Amino acid sequence: MNRKIAVYPGSFDPLTFGHLDIINRAMTIFDEVIIAVTRNSKKDPLFTVEERVGLIKAAMKENSRAKVDTFEGLLIDYVHANKAKVIIRGLRAISDFEYELQMAQINRNIAKDVETVFLMTSVFYSFLSSSVVKEVSSLNGPVDGLVPPIVKKALDAKFGR
Ligand code: ADP
Repeated sequence: MNRKIAVYPGSFDPLTFGHLDIINRAMTIFDEVIIAVTRNSKKDPLFTVEERVGLIKAAMKENSRAKVDTFEGLLIDYVHANKAKVIIRGLRAISDFEYELQMAQINRNIAKDVETVFLMTSVFYSFLSSSVVKEVSSLNGPVDGLVPPIVKKALDAKFGR
């Protein structure tokens, strides 16, 4: 039987409950979900790729159907190498749409055998992004309920608390 494998790529700097919501929902649709932390990011990250991978692994319950990995270079090459057919992305607001549409179209132009599937954010997390979490935490504001406890601890450590 063909296992349905999906890749969920992103910066995850750091993982939030918004990401976890997308992961959990993707797991109900696909046999295997690979959470792929990008090494390409042009953004200046707060956490190293290794720290981000460690936090995702620690925050996720043991699950043989979810894998955490990193990738470098063309996403489509990584998707093919893992025999996946689907890229998962989350959509929060119209502001996400333009960029996501462009990425989905360029990826489709490169590889016709890979579909991008968008999961709409749960309304509770629609305002939530890694950037907002970093900003609030840097100002010593509360991030409980936005990120798993282990991520909160890591943020406290990064900001010298
Ligand atoms: P990237 O730099 O690739 O956008 P992110 O870690 O910011 O990496 O986001 C990875 C994916 O998760 C994106 O598709 C983004 O839209 C989605 N995402 C992030 N936060 C949320 C949220 N609160 N609800 C739904 N999707 C989200």
